[in-house]
Amino acid sequence: MNSSVMNTYNRYPVSFKDGNGAWLTSEDNKQFLDFSSGIAVNILGHNHPEINKTFEMQANKIWHVSNLYTIPEQELLAKKLCELSFADKVFFCNSGAEAVEGAIKIARKYHSFNGNAQKNEIITFKNSFHGRTLATLAAASNPLHTEGFSPIPNGFLNIPLNEDSLKKSISDKTAGILIEPVQGEGGINPVSNEFLSLIRKLCDENNILMILDQVQCGMGRTGKLFSHEWSDIEPDIISLAKALGAGFPIGAILTSEDVAKGMQPGSHGSTFGGNPVGCSIALKVLELIEKDDILSNVKDLSEILISELDKLVKKHHNKISNVRGKGLMIGVDCIEKNSVITDEAFKNGLLLVNASNNVVRFLPPLNISETEIFEAIKKFDETLSNLDI
Ligand SMILES: *Cc1c(COP(=O)(O)O)cnc(C)c1O
Repeated sequence: MNSSVMNTYNRYPVSFKDGNGAWLTSEDNKQFLDFSSGIAVNILGHNHPEINKTFEMQANKIWHVSNLYTIPEQELLAKKLCELSFADKVFFCNSGAEAVEGAIKIARKYHSFNGNAQKNEIITFKNSFHGRTLATLAAASNPLHTEGFSPIPNGFLNIPLNEDSLKKSISDKTAGILIEPVQGEGGINPVSNEFLSLIRKLCDENNILMILDQVQCGMGRTGKLFSHEWSDIEPDIISLAKALGAGFPIGAILTSEDVAKGMQPGSHGSTFGGNPVGCSIALKVLELIEKDDILSNVKDLSEILISELDKLVKKHHNKISNVRGKGLMIGVDCIEKNSVITDEAFKNGLLLVNASNNVVRFLPPLNISETEIFEAIKKFDETLSNLDI
């Protein structure tokens, strides 16, 4: 197709005209079971009646006002996010990259505000993904993503994810340590509780801020609202986006009172950030996660999905080799090329997502049913069998 849209994506030859829960209908009336959720975005599935109603109600009241004025929906959402977490203050933006970039700015500002302007370096980890702005590209330092975009901002130290490298990398210049508690794009790699505790300890000892990028693993994806709740640590800053608006673009940065002190009027901003429609929807999403006991569903169905995938690893051991993840953020290591498997799954009506290191991701909506999990397993089994022909 000769498209006028810039050629930055490899796209499947399909468009969807309708969605319902975990199902999508294509223009040519094929049904697809959506285990990609718009890459961990549509946590409550497509066309959720209560979210649609919230959207309509807010759209009929007011769409956008500037941050020159108080936005009540923003106040309510910030209050709710603080009640549900360690945080005391929230900044709203529109996307994951903005949430991470803002987190980096807040960490640097914290130290300069406290008279430690030399503390401006952020330690990050190999195999991570933090977004596509120049600073977030610099943070992840993935050569595939930075190629051709020089000069890349400095101030980042990208290191292997282990205790030795981390201890060696900390210096008087370290402002923050930025990590995804479960690496998403990097291939679904949960970081151990021990490593998170080590980061917390080193941060406390060295006046460093612990920044958790939960853009993908936050909002209930792992079975806890925030993925660090699986450990006993609390971070200083969290970045959120993807599932926060369950499909409506909104991002957020959560911090403690102390960390937010340096962020005074004029220090940061966003025209669209904290838009009334986005905030109303995110508030409804949080309400539904509680009301519908979504986190229990994630935990229950996670066990089933993992054990069924483990069976498929045994059955198709020449094509897939290992299953790992947390909650409904599951990765399968492939022996066959991952894109060959996801392409075949697509033909078979199952939407999955590739990740780095030859991994296939299962990211179903968090309100998925047991029947749909088994349906996906059946389709994945058939998909792997079809690859023999
Ligand atoms: C997707 C993602 C981002 C970037 O989010 P965008 O909304 O695409 O800018 C950042 N961090 C993580 C962990 C992500 O998964």
